[in-house]
Amino acid sequence: MRQRDVVILGGGLAGLAAAQKLNHLDLEVLEAAEWVGGRTRSVRLPGGPWMNFGAQYITEDRPVIVELADSLGVELIHSEMFEDYYKLLLPDDPAARAEVEAGMSRIEEAQSQPRPVASPELDDVSFADWLGPMSEAAADYFDRITLLMNCASTVDLSVVGGLWVWGEQRTSPWNTADIPHHDRGELVVAGGTSELADIVLPSAAWVEREGTFTNFEGRVQRFRTAVDPFGSARPDWDVLGHVLATVTGEAAPVRAEQWFRRLAEAVPAFAGMTYRSIGDTGQVVSAA
Ligand SMILES: Cc1cc2nc3c(=O)[nH]c(=O)nc-3n(C[C@H](O)[C@H](O)[C@H](O)COP(=O)(O)OP(=O)(O)OC[C@H]3O[C@@H](n4cnc5c(N)ncnc54)[C@H](O)[C@@H]3O)c2cc1C
Repeated sequence: MRQRDVVILGGGLAGLAAAQKLNHLDLEVLEAAEWVGGRTRSVRLPGGPWMNFGAQYITEDRPVIVELADSLGVELIHSEMFEDYYKLLLPDDPAARAEVEAGMSRIEEAQSQPRPVASPELDDVSFADWLGPMSEAAADYFDRITLLMNCASTVDLSVVGGLWVWGEQRTSPWNTADIPHHDRGELVVAGGTSELADIVLPSAAWVEREGTFTNFEGRVQRFRTAVDPFGSARPDWDVLGHVLATVTGEAAPVRAEQWFRRLAEAVPAFAGMTYRSIGDTGQVVSAA
């Protein structure tokens, strides 16, 4: 058997970026799928249109991927729509807008001084408290953006979650501390919760699982699996179910619908709801 300096498991963007950085070594990338690129897969359909099964947008806090593209001569197409989507939610009132911009500057300032996410000063404060008093329009902006990015409200989230904004990505292997700035953007989210964890469990991406969302109106809507999870990734409810079963010794539900039934039994606002009653249009919780 041939000996290598390095073997990289997985030819997704993380594996490919690592391979590019280590290309001075004798290395091999092992990929289980029939394509490289992992969750960035796109397929050309008969007749010409492209079907995207995964990531297409590279935001400016992904310097490693931007560098990978640059070094390979891959063109990244600038998208104002994506870059500015959060601006669409900005309040019309100039005073409220100024409040929002001040809040955003504070977030960027806080993110430019990375601290361990386990720090109590970050974890024990809700994002709303950290933002402080502001007009209804400005608070509404932050609530909408938080809902959009985190499926939660500013009151639910700790500062860790709130400063998330670019969030889940903090756990991404795409972000590294050793590239402080990039010409396509000044913001670099360093670190990552995975660096602090003793155990990292593979969690399926949102399009790889099913479940329900309850929106700000209290409307419960189902969402369905669009693509199969990669490798050993599992929906969060399944990961938690396994942990629960291990801790309690009791069997945990094995399907999202069974978890929803438990929710309906335990939380009065959801009482009587089922996947059937929610249907395709959703159902509003009784307390809303
Ligand atoms: C529909 C969708 C849309 C998304 N949109 C965006 C977006 O617009 N912007 C964005 O930033 N992010 C987006 N994401 C998230 C983004 O795709 C992922 O964060 C990113 O692709 C993860 O890269 P990765 O290399 O860490 O993992 P993956 O892309 O999952 O790659 C892991 C690779 O490892 C392989 N593998 C697994 N186990 C083994 C093994 N035992 N041996 C060999 N190979 C193995 C897998 O086949 C896979 O190719 C999206 C995700 C999905 C699913």
